[in-house]
Amino acid sequence: MGQIQLKNLTKRFGDTVAVEDLSLDIDDEEFLVLVGPSGCGKSTTLRCLAGLETPTSGDIYIGNDHMNYRVPQNRDIAMVFQDYALYPHMTVRQNIRYGLEEEPGYTSAERNARVEEVAETLGIADLLDRKPDELSGGQQQRVALGRAIVRDPEVFLMDEPLSNLDAKLRAEMRTELQSLQNQLKVTTVYVTHNQTEAMTMSDRLAVMNDGRLQQVGTPLECYHEPNNVFVAEFIGEPMMNLVHGTRSGSTLVTNHFEYPLDGELREAVGDREDLILGVRPEDLAVQDVDDEAPELEPHEFHFEVGVVEPHGDQNVLHLTRPGRASDDEDVLQAVTGGMHLVTQGEEVVVTIDPAKIHLFDASTGQAVRNRRHESDAELTQLEQ
Ligand code: ATP
Repeated sequence: MGQIQLKNLTKRFGDTVAVEDLSLDIDDEEFLVLVGPSGCGKSTTLRCLAGLETPTSGDIYIGNDHMNYRVPQNRDIAMVFQDYALYPHMTVRQNIRYGLEEEPGYTSAERNARVEEVAETLGIADLLDRKPDELSGGQQQRVALGRAIVRDPEVFLMDEPLSNLDAKLRAEMRTELQSLQNQLKVTTVYVTHNQTEAMTMSDRLAVMNDGRLQQVGTPLECYHEPNNVFVAEFIGEPMMNLVHGTRSGSTLVTNHFEYPLDGELREAVGDREDLILGVRPEDLAVQDVDDEAPELEPHEFHFEVGVVEPHGDQNVLHLTRPGRASDDEDVLQAVTGGMHLVTQGEEVVVTIDPAKIHLFDASTGQAVRNRRHESDAELTQLEQ
């Protein structure tokens, strides 16, 4: 069985704590993505799992077996790295077959048959007699995958395996890797700092920062129910708007607007005074100013449109409060439909719906209230 347990894993390099007290259970057949900014300890965690680093403290189990002191060859894992590390003097066939070199119990004919089977699965059967320098980047990556798959391991460990590919190929390989994993049903731990990969490929994400685990959850949980400001900011593009404020009674006073904290919001924040209001760009409603109804509702505010970034399917609007100096930082970013015509300098009304906001304790960064969900369907999706 390919379930993995990390128990209080810590890895130090001298004074640097690369991974700190990380505990994580990964299910058999799960696709878990370790994601976080550069230097957060993703690769070190993976290398400890692989046996390329020895933990300073803590325990690693694969199946029910304690792995801390086992050499990589005896862990029943296969690794794929960013650098494909194919042998240039060997053909594709020989490179893939090399993955079986250390595996006992195969006859030569069985090894050859296995190589052909894997090449077929990866759609590279017609390339078996080529050398790596006669292949495109995507084809080389498939060969590297082939070398890992051929051994039929319990666990795949992948460290940024797609980062050398161009954007289009990357997107293609994302889908291929997912369907391959569905087909092979091998527990996979995949390291990336690319949040599109993290969101689209994983069953669950483990978000790390500064060597510490911030949250483990499905992509939608991490997106809609972030544990803290770090996860809220890291997951999502354009990122969540975060506005600092101080509570005065039932009002959150920010540098840009005063936001009423009614009933449920007021209860959620308790005695806290220093807060951060978070709202996703797509959760802001942007409307034209209605000259017939100049009065604003309590959660509506006038904003001025700064830069407009058209993406075709959507526009990203940078919004500032009217009359602010043009070099003032953007206050909010909003996403509107691509056909919604908005021009720079235009004044708009922005609704910050209380049902859609997140509130964080500014001193700890912890979420005190996450956005509500509009339908049972949304909630069911989160729970799956
Ligand atoms: P990236 O996405 O840039 O690869 P990462 O999240 O994988 O980053 P790690 O490579 O795990 O991060 O590094 C975590 C921390 O440990 C960093 O501060 C790094 O400088 C440090 N570190 C990693 N390996 C070593 C080493 N062999 N010796 C000393 N420090 C190291």
